[in-house]
Amino acid sequence: MKKIIADFIIDTPNGFYCRIGGFYIDPKTPVQNAIISHAHADHAIAGSVNVYTHSATFNFMKLRYKQRAAKQFIPIEFHQPFFINQIKIVFIPAGHMLGSAQILMEFEGLKYLYSGDVKSQPDTTCEVIEFVQADVLITETTFANPAVKHPSPIEAMKSTLSIERPLLIGAYVLGKAQRITALINEIAPSAVVAIHHDILAYHQIYERYQRLTKQYQVLEKKDLRLKKPYIYIVPPLTFNTYKLQGLMSCVFASGWQALQQANTHTLLLSDHMDWFDLLAYIEQVKPAEIWTIHGDGAFLKEHFSNSAVKVKNLAK
Ligand SMILES: [Zn+2]
Repeated sequence: MKKIIADFIIDTPNGFYCRIGGFYIDPKTPVQNAIISHAHADHAIAGSVNVYTHSATFNFMKLRYKQRAAKQFIPIEFHQPFFINQIKIVFIPAGHMLGSAQILMEFEGLKYLYSGDVKSQPDTTCEVIEFVQADVLITETTFANPAVKHPSPIEAMKSTLSIERPLLIGAYVLGKAQRITALINEIAPSAVVAIHHDILAYHQIYERYQRLTKQYQVLEKKDLRLKKPYIYIVPPLTFNTYKLQGLMSCVFASGWQALQQANTHTLLLSDHMDWFDLLAYIEQVKPAEIWTIHGDGAFLKEHFSNSAVKVKNLAK
């Protein structure tokens, strides 16, 4: 049986590094070779030299960082293998947001799968997650706690739609804002949705990838008086400003229970796996080893303590 390379991926101050391949995954500082799993700002920073990423991620990074985004983009589509040095790499849909990829790396007959951020709940605004088998699964453990069970997104949104309007929904501009727009359009097609102008360019990229249709209006800078039948989707800072005025119903969309407590209503909508989704994911990947990152892998370690699966924490 082939031997897993214990330091195939290591945690460094610059991010997760593959020494044999000479590349970083989701680096924290600009590097020579970067693979970027998805466009959220904590995974996709500006300034690297060669950036291997999905074309949607490339478009989001260009929008956010302009010329500074990267020296050279190498767009990679899902399922199309490519090589960096001797490592064969394939992007697999991660279901987290548009363009989000799991990074499958193959070397000397062994497969190492970096999950990135993953989600298996239904979401029409991005590709459906696909499951592949790997010898090592390097995975986030953001919500890897048996106490965490995410509600169904449809049910969560239905309950939000029953709140009196005007209704203000606070949401991150990339990923969450589009998912909320699509959910409202699906559940209540006659509801009037208005998005903050800062969200528009992100919505338009989703439309180009046919992951969103233009069933919304734009809240213009000059028109900030909120009207009765409307549901407004705004970024966190704008949300806080309006909330302080106390003139309307306010709800902030997040998977974090703690972020909900300050508001009268809640919208628990997560773009990560809960404990049960994560276990089902691991069952599909069938890894011999799990290397955990982002969050506390302690529950996972305990869960597999009497099994053949070895769990270790990769993050320093
Ligand atoms: Zn993310």
